[in-house]
Amino acid sequence: MTDQNPPRQGMIGRRTLLKALGVTGVAAATGAAARTGTAAAAPTLHDVIIIGAGFAGITAARTLREQGISSVVLEARGRIGGRIWTSTLAGQQVELGGQWIAESQALAMAELNRYGIPLVGDPDAFPTISYYPTTGGPQTFDFLSANEHFGTLLNKLFEGSTSYFPRPEDPLYARDLVARVDQLSLRSRIDQLGLSTQDRMWLEGYTNAYAGGDSSTRGLTSMAQWWALGGHTHAGWDAQTATRPQGGMTALLTRILRDAAPDLRLNSPVTTISDTGTQVNVTLRSGSTLSARTVIVAVPANIWRTLRFTAGLPAVHSAATNYGLGVPNVTKFWFRTSGSSGRVFASGKPGDPISLLLPQRVLSTGDVLSVGFSENASLDVTSRSAVQSALQRIAPGVTLLEHAYAPWGRDPYSLGAWGMRGPNQLLAQLPAIQQPHGRLAFATGDIATGWHGAYIDGAIESGIRAARQALAQL
Ligand SMILES: Cc1cc2nc3c(=O)[nH]c(=O)nc-3n(C[C@H](O)[C@H](O)[C@H](O)COP(=O)(O)OP(=O)(O)OC[C@H]3O[C@@H](n4cnc5c(N)ncnc54)[C@H](O)[C@@H]3O)c2cc1C
Repeated sequence: MTDQNPPRQGMIGRRTLLKALGVTGVAAATGAAARTGTAAAAPTLHDVIIIGAGFAGITAARTLREQGISSVVLEARGRIGGRIWTSTLAGQQVELGGQWIAESQALAMAELNRYGIPLVGDPDAFPTISYYPTTGGPQTFDFLSANEHFGTLLNKLFEGSTSYFPRPEDPLYARDLVARVDQLSLRSRIDQLGLSTQDRMWLEGYTNAYAGGDSSTRGLTSMAQWWALGGHTHAGWDAQTATRPQGGMTALLTRILRDAAPDLRLNSPVTTISDTGTQVNVTLRSGSTLSARTVIVAVPANIWRTLRFTAGLPAVHSAATNYGLGVPNVTKFWFRTSGSSGRVFASGKPGDPISLLLPQRVLSTGDVLSVGFSENASLDVTSRSAVQSALQRIAPGVTLLEHAYAPWGRDPYSLGAWGMRGPNQLLAQLPAIQQPHGRLAFATGDIATGWHGAYIDGAIESGIRAARQALAQL
């Protein structure tokens, strides 16, 4: 254990653990020498440094703690959570990043069960009025019939997914069939469907929202895998945005953090990661350097390109970060709108400044709280009047009273929103992007196998994997 985090009683000792893991040779010997050496004034050599306190990093810290290994977590922001951010609007708890968890997400569900946190729904999320785009502008539609029609469009988009993703938790299982769809962007897949102008508007407006604005930049395989993981059905798809953890995402993460009990250092942005071959030196923007036997890089994939890796990055990591696995331009909003407008659902067409409006809750005043998304980099998200006009482009008559927003694409510590593969990236990246590089392991939902990118389930998966990889280095 490091001097800063003495072991708790009852934890497995390091030597016992190494024996249990069958780790011998240089790494183990190096560790013993560092502990018993005579250089009393030598800087602390930590077992593991984790860079990033999102779901991936904190899950990794807890996995290490469960094996008796303490960690130092260096987090750039003044808060934990990264791309989850539980905030408030109109006195209500709102999620400006990740929000929903579905029962099909086994790892996230295991966390909720472990901590006794129930999933809750939002009965006010059923709209009283819904707008969809037409060639003549947004029109009202009966929500249930329109949603059913939308389901037929999604079924067309993902037709064949039961063949190419028969085991969706293992996206490479049917590799030969996957090879045929991996090259397709969402837009090129839509091109194959021969849709009417209006159907195309509906579907591409929606896929653009997922893709951060442009369906040609993101592969079919990400969305299709999420569809498959939800059971290859429209109902399974809709369930992914229907329930949330009681108390919010940060409450869940805080419970994991409590068990992880790392030496958490907020406001500690890392700039340089230097793997010497026997240890890793991590330099902060402040200029101070910490050292560890192994480091878990638990920042978003888009952030790798902003860090200096003195030993370089593998080609697959460089390609992914330079492409930007995290989709660009996304701003997530919460709106308080006048109750007289109703509980409004609205879906935009390609190019609209706001792509989706989803009612969530009715306040005691009658005002409505809704979630919204924009992928338009030129929208002034800070301006109520600009946002009000943007909203009215998809939902005429909606009166905006107040809004909160998180422009993830401009956030220096995410440089994008959820992760989503580009065309040809599934076969090119998995599993190489999950492998350690020297004494570095990589953790982020962006590179998960199952619920990758847009789900904390994948962040948890990657945190557990990276912690195991780090343990093998000790
Ligand atoms: C708008 C939006 C909506 C979403 N909706 C959902 C949803 O409904 N359900 C769901 O399950 N998931 C959702 N997701 C996805 C989910 O939030 C992410 O997959 C998950 O939070 C990623 O966790 P992570 O640990 O991989 O990365 P992050 O949460 O981004 O954590 C990485 C951490 O690294 C830190 N960091 C970055 N650079 C540095 C540095 N130089 N030095 C030190 N620290 C650094 C960051 O500050 C951050 O805390 C959504 C994401 C977004 C953006």
